[in-house]
Amino acid sequence: MKEAKKIFKTALEEGRTFVLENEAKDIMEGYGIPIPPYATATTADEAVEKSKSIGFPVVLKILSKDILHKSDAGGVKVNLKDEDAVRRAFDEIMKNVKSFGKEKGIDVDLSRGVFVSAFADMGIEMIVGVTKDPQFGHALMVGLGGIFVEVLKDVSFRLIPFTESDAREMLGELKAYKILEGVRGEGPRDVDALIKIMLAISKMVDENPEIIELDCNPAFVYAKGKGAVVVDARILIDGSGKPASH
Ligand code: ADP
Ligand code: MG
Repeated sequence: MKEAKKIFKTALEEGRTFVLENEAKDIMEGYGIPIPPYATATTADEAVEKSKSIGFPVVLKILSKDILHKSDAGGVKVNLKDEDAVRRAFDEIMKNVKSFGKEKGIDVDLSRGVFVSAFADMGIEMIVGVTKDPQFGHALMVGLGGIFVEVLKDVSFRLIPFTESDAREMLGELKAYKILEGVRGEGPRDVDALIKIMLAISKMVDENPEIIELDCNPAFVYAKGKGAVVVDARILIDGSGKPASH
């Protein structure tokens, strides 16, 4: 997809080997991956304006080449219900990130402002990731998201590209599959929507081999028939300057 190539080129020209969240989501939307509505804003006024057109509640997140893990820097504010909350969140994020940078000895670039997005209803949190092995190439990983990734190490992998039945099999291998199938009065989850996301990522990475790492953490998976959305997206690209081979 041309859009992705353009975004990667700009990132490398700016000395970044990762794309910003809005760019990652632009690319993903191009592959049909469901993303809550989003925009960017460089001032508190603009953040309010964008929040109004998206509709409350919203989330604000720092958008900076120097911040990869936004929460760690105090750069994420969720469930902002009105104008005042958005204004306060904008100022707090800028303040938090600035002092986080000071502690780390980096002069954080704040010129890009914030990512503004619709606050998505909570679903089952899953992580969908991609890694690149020098020998085997790209693999997709899927597992339960949040704290469970670290604790349970309940993930399953396949080399990219893979088919729909591979994707279904991957999910079936998870201990967490029981949760997706529905447990204790919780109905089944929209596994098909999650599979669609996995297949779209497989296609995206297959067509853009310069991607060396990708994380959708988290993706929320809703009740059967209600879909799934990716609420956080991170893409790292090969910065070695060599034309990507395939
Ligand atoms: P990071 O992983 O860089 O700290 P995230 O974008 O994952 O930042 O945001 C941190 C947390 O905030 C997420 O794990 C999720 O629980 C919540 N969150 C982020 N974006 C949204 C959203 N659009 N709707 C609802 N919750 C969100
Ligand atoms: Mg995240």
